[in-house]
Amino acid sequence: MHHDPTYDVLIVGARVAGAATAMLLARSGLRVLVVDQGRLGSDILSTHALMRGGVIQLSRWGLLDAVRAAGTPPVRRTVVRYGDVDEVVQIKPIPHCDALYAPRRTVLDPLLVAAAREAGAEVRFGLRATALLRDDLGRVAGAVVPTPDGQRQELRARITVGADGIRSVVAREVGAPCTVRGTASTALVGGYVSGPTADGYQWLYSEGGSAGIIPTNHGQLCAWAAVPSGEFARLKGLPDLGFHATMRHVAPDWADVLADARFDGPLRGFPGVPGFMRRPWGPGWALVGDASHFKDPLSAHGMTDALRDAELLADAIVAELTGNGPAGDALRGYEQFRDELSLELFALTDRIAAHDWDLAELRELLVALSAAMRTEVGHLLDRDRQLIPA
Ligand SMILES: Cc1cc2nc3c(=O)[nH]c(=O)nc-3n(C[C@H](O)[C@H](O)[C@H](O)COP(=O)(O)OP(=O)(O)OC[C@H]3O[C@@H](n4cnc5c(N)ncnc54)[C@H](O)[C@@H]3O)c2cc1C
Repeated sequence: MHHDPTYDVLIVGARVAGAATAMLLARSGLRVLVVDQGRLGSDILSTHALMRGGVIQLSRWGLLDAVRAAGTPPVRRTVVRYGDVDEVVQIKPIPHCDALYAPRRTVLDPLLVAAAREAGAEVRFGLRATALLRDDLGRVAGAVVPTPDGQRQELRARITVGADGIRSVVAREVGAPCTVRGTASTALVGGYVSGPTADGYQWLYSEGGSAGIIPTNHGQLCAWAAVPSGEFARLKGLPDLGFHATMRHVAPDWADVLADARFDGPLRGFPGVPGFMRRPWGPGWALVGDASHFKDPLSAHGMTDALRDAELLADAIVAELTGNGPAGDALRGYEQFRDELSLELFALTDRIAAHDWDLAELRELLVALSAAMRTEVGHLLDRDRQLIPA
């Protein structure tokens, strides 16, 4: 039995969830190692839109200036289109959130890794966790992470965190049960276009389909079109045709603009995965980000969830490792708080992803989604107030 594992916390996955959690734990003085099978700064499929909660977290952690300095354009309004009716919502500045931002992942993820390293966390790329280690009591005690030349390497830690995405190896190895399952999912095709401009996020809905236009770095727009997953075949065989046909159905004006525009690289597709929530903790382990719960990307809330829960989890781990409470209490609290903030967002997103609404019903769903996000924002801003001495 190892009483003095090398690290307090081993984190598998170094993107929004893993790097943010590592940064916060290292800032609390814990010894943290993060491993990621990928490359620093590599891209992944995303439409990049941060909601207010995600922006607030980056600002509270002192990272929003770097996002702005990387040329990420501020988004000061959101256009929601129902059929052919546009509703414009101005983004009212609130503390820690002067505007919304949609940073490319090649910008945001390395910035979080740099902040984690600066706080003292070790972050190593090109290393894949393949299995978990257990102590004599069956508690998770680290992970098997083969060296780049294939030698067995055991990395020991008091807590192992799976921040390793939808197909989390940590969740699989501990058998984390699903506590909630979604029923619907969306297939999405999109890419980056230079030339056309957009004033703010454009969320475009028409019965049976949806689309989005998101201003991101390098003066580009991220443009995507979505249909229910069952119809993915229509988009899959001929992604360009599926994208343009769906865009024409949903937003003919944007279809005209994009038909002549120059895309940077091929369009890429995501077939869709129904949402899920997993139990996010157990003896010696925890999950965060998509590994913990996944919502259809149509809500554009995954990164915001990850940045929010990174802090809930980091606080719980610090309490577990340094506090006097009974083992598991703080992590149980993490799950409860995650659920309190997520269950309504999850259910609404699942309804929206089904694409079986009419436009009046959709509007009600989006108004309810917006109210649930306001509750989340209130909670995040309250965390600062709690730190201000009376
Ligand atoms: C098409 C699409 C569009 C989206 N659009 C938006 C949007 O507009 N706004 C938004 O907020 N969210 C969006 N999302 C969701 C968002 O991308 C995710 O919620 C977010 O990336 C989750 O971050 P994460 O750190 O939990 O996991 P990931 O980003 O999936 O990162 C997991 C990391 O773990 C590593 N890893 C996995 N397994 C192992 C292993 N065994 N060993 C070592 N490393 C491992 C991977 O290499 C990866 O780097 C979108 C998702 C999709 C699919």
